[in-house]
Amino acid sequence: MNPAALEILKTVYGYDAFRGPQAKIVDHVMEGNNAFVLMPTGGGKSLCYQIPAIARPGMGLVVSPLLALMADQVAALREAGVRAAALNSDLPPDARRALWRDIENGHLDLLYVAPETLLRPDVLEMLTGVRLSLIAIDEAHCLSQWGHDFRPSYRQLDILVRHFPDTPRMALTATADEPTREEILAHLNIDEDDAFIAGFDRPNIRYAIEEKDNPRAQLKDFLKRHKGESGIVYCLSKRKVEETAAWLREQGHDALAYHAGMDKADREANQMTFQRGEAVIMVATVAFGMGIDKPDVRFVAHFDLPGSIEAFYQETGRAGRDGLPSETLMLYGSDDIGLRTRFIEESDAPDQRKHMERQKLDALLGLAETAGCRRQVLLSYFGDQSEPCGNCDTCAAPPKMFDGTIAAQKALSCIYRTGERFGQGYIIDVLLGTENERIRQFGHNKISTFGIGQEHNSRTWRAILRQLIALRLVEVDLAGHGGLSIARAGRDFLRDKPTLMLRQPGLQRERNRT
Ligand code: ADP
Ligand code: ZN
Repeated sequence: MNPAALEILKTVYGYDAFRGPQAKIVDHVMEGNNAFVLMPTGGGKSLCYQIPAIARPGMGLVVSPLLALMADQVAALREAGVRAAALNSDLPPDARRALWRDIENGHLDLLYVAPETLLRPDVLEMLTGVRLSLIAIDEAHCLSQWGHDFRPSYRQLDILVRHFPDTPRMALTATADEPTREEILAHLNIDEDDAFIAGFDRPNIRYAIEEKDNPRAQLKDFLKRHKGESGIVYCLSKRKVEETAAWLREQGHDALAYHAGMDKADREANQMTFQRGEAVIMVATVAFGMGIDKPDVRFVAHFDLPGSIEAFYQETGRAGRDGLPSETLMLYGSDDIGLRTRFIEESDAPDQRKHMERQKLDALLGLAETAGCRRQVLLSYFGDQSEPCGNCDTCAAPPKMFDGTIAAQKALSCIYRTGERFGQGYIIDVLLGTENERIRQFGHNKISTFGIGQEHNSRTWRAILRQLIALRLVEVDLAGHGGLSIARAGRDFLRDKPTLMLRQPGLQRERNRT
């Protein structure tokens, strides 16, 4: 281990030893190599670039996406005696000139800068004459066009490769699946051999996933276990954020809202209250995320299906940065699946990308519907092997499966016989043989599938249909009225009739409650 680096760890940070892969990474960068660092939230990424930046001759340049995040880091570093500063666009001219003087005179160890500022020609020009110890790009996944944190200016950071070819480059992130990882490496011209990938596991986080049954009641149950604690409730839409926050306040919770449609000032005020509060629930869209540095977030709930496994991992990952036990809950229903599918199909993205998005959604649904350990499925998505964890809902109480072959056949033929245009409720009524005006009007009380599904109740049929949708045997047309139709895999299924195991519905919630 490089002695200078170890010395800084002790004197500046007051830590006795590096943690996990930190030592290897710091050594690697101290020698002037590039590095890609993938470490889960709370893993200690900051030290990996800060220590080499301080120890190596010259100033370390840190690209960071958020001003608030930069301000926090700079303040903490200064407190520890490190000469750090942030270059941002709203610096008054005097302060700006003073800062540039410090930079030119070699009086700074670390300079934080937003990509938009860094990319300005005058800034790049001025930095060209400065001796740089390294360039660290934090939250590097923001350069991935396919990720949900995409920042166009991050995309242009490849300029740095050409502008500072001899300066070691570091890219750091807590989220990057295989394709994103490759995208970052290629874009910043970092070698595969320079990649350090730490395990993804967050053992202190408990995972639970439930089908939506009575979502508000489900959330209420979950929150009962977290009285006096802070957490986040993610919703899909701004409207739902507002409604849910208002509802939670009625329930006596200290709930705040956060979404991109709010005033910047209100948003920031709410973030600040959350950051400092002890028992604050932030109800938010995915706009709330990056840069939350609250160590004691005790729970994260997804009130709607998140966008992908990466999004799920990142959003749940905001819980328990302090390493203490934390709990997550994700709720999902057929509508969520339909809506997410529609987002993909209706986007202007090229076919190849849509294909990938579909696969990502399927992987997430696989996690939701698995009978195995959630953590195993989650980690295997990122390429990590693991044993059943004992700290997720399915480990605590493995779900019961049943042979759903006949049920699936009945549901599919009912969808087929009614013309593949009716929604879930209607199909269930036909399956159960519920005679009503609409069904009579279409003459569906006369067809062969009318009443063939009386062995299950409507709740069970709902769960069966959801699983058929999740398994892609059935498609939901949400652009219309949620009409169900048979997907290609559903036709194959009707033809080949393979055995289909389904989860016994409705039990997960009861299990999670005990
Ligand atoms: P990340 O950016 O990967 O989410 P941070 O760099 O913010 O993580 O580090 C998370 C926490 O762990 C911080 O409180 C940090 O001070 C602490 N930490 C990092 N490295 C060490 C270490 N070697 N020993 C003890 N604590 C550490
Ligand atoms: Zn498990």
